[in-house]
Amino acid sequence: MKIARRLDALHEIYAVYDNFIKGLTMACKRGCATCCTQNVTMTTLEGYSIFQHLIASGKTGLLKAVHHTVKSKRYQPALTTNELAALCLNGEDPPEEKNDYSSIACPFLCNNECLIYEERPLGCRCFFSAEKCETAACAVVEPFFVTVNTVFLQFVEHIDAGGLFGNMSDVLLFLEPEITQTCHETYSIVGNRVGLSHNRPIPALLAPPEHQMRLEPVLRELSNIPL
Ligand code: SF4
Ligand code: SF4
Repeated sequence: MKIARRLDALHEIYAVYDNFIKGLTMACKRGCATCCTQNVTMTTLEGYSIFQHLIASGKTGLLKAVHHTVKSKRYQPALTTNELAALCLNGEDPPEEKNDYSSIACPFLCNNECLIYEERPLGCRCFFSAEKCETAACAVVEPFFVTVNTVFLQFVEHIDAGGLFGNMSDVLLFLEPEITQTCHETYSIVGNRVGLSHNRPIPALLAPPEHQMRLEPVLRELSNIPL
């Protein structure tokens, strides 16, 4: 699929997701940003979309903060969501994730506001909580919504199969040499890159049986998006 079509599909998935969470009761308010750390993950397609936004809005200078972020230990996932789904399908255990990273602020956070809000990746859109995280000491999310988030992450990975997945800063710095000044029609993924994993198509949805019926309306909407 051409990159323009894949970007359209990405934004359609974002729109379905944003519409889904619009009706939820949550404690999240503008200016609440405890969840905005350097440990966000995303795909290369999402990174490409952020680059398009930075270039179009003359904000490529924000990449300096991204370069600064990679000097500290950050969350680098061992697996993509669809790799995890494939392991579950085979009855295998996932590898242990390292948790020796700090939770310093996201490089795109300024005065508790996101500087790329419209283009933030799905990993950020999935941050919400029924109670203020500062008070509850963590996000409070009903298990069904964890399933919904996971399924959307699977679809976002699916449309970038062959691309890469990892920490937001690692993905952006991987893409930077190719597309700092202009967004080309494509970007190349050559070889392996430390800290990044290869995206893959959905092997099966990570949805427990008790959530499947409730998930159907959202899956119908996703099935209308040409992927
Ligand atoms: S997820 Fe938590 S920290 Fe983030 S906006 Fe919502 S309440 Fe605030
Ligand atoms: S990209 Fe924006 S929404 Fe996502 S963590 Fe950074 S500041 Fe928060």
